[in-house]
Amino acid sequence: MRLILMGPPGAGKGTQARFVAEHFGVPAISTGDIFRANVSQGTPLGVEAQRYMDSGEYVPDEVTNRMVRARIDEPDAAPGFLLDGYPRTLDQVEELDGMIAHTGHSLDAAVVLTVDAEELVQRLLQRAQTDGRADDTEDVIRRRQEVYTEQTEPLIGVYRERGLLVEVDGMGEVDEVTQRIFDALDDIPQS
Ligand code: ADP
Repeated sequence: MRLILMGPPGAGKGTQARFVAEHFGVPAISTGDIFRANVSQGTPLGVEAQRYMDSGEYVPDEVTNRMVRARIDEPDAAPGFLLDGYPRTLDQVEELDGMIAHTGHSLDAAVVLTVDAEELVQRLLQRAQTDGRADDTEDVIRRRQEVYTEQTEPLIGVYRERGLLVEVDGMGEVDEVTQRIFDALDDIPQS
């Protein structure tokens, strides 16, 4: 199973990614988590990524693409994977197409979680209090929403045209959303 999970910041991608990946027996690959791990370990990749992340901007495509390519090449991703937070730009869509084509497989679905704008801000402000993520301040949250609208929302149309889009209502309890995703995905054919 090869899946991508999309949605604006605060939609619940990271939370749902873990459950969905476990359900299908594939690794959940979160670009945000990989960047954060590199930042906390002080690797060269982390040093490069941090200044973009702290201001709510996207890390340059070239850096992100290289990182995802290396991760997908690891043996645990051979049977499939769930990507959380990638692709986020049209350039990344093309790169991912190439990576998957190279394995002789194809993408099975692009799941997008939809959540009201007001609810998104509430969730992120709440997370700011509990998790203390450096990019969960009000200004940076606003900038992340803008960048999402400008650069990532257009990808929904791309996957819709390809017939791969699975839209799931992301409002409500976590386990209700998980069940909606399972119900939607259990119907689709796997490559
Ligand atoms: P969010 O909850 O805002 O969706 P993530 O944890 O997925 O956040 O990502 C945090 C930050 O990591 C992003 O704001 C961005 O700077 C960087 N990042 C994550 N994925 C990508 C990507 N595919 N392309 C560029 N930058 C990315």
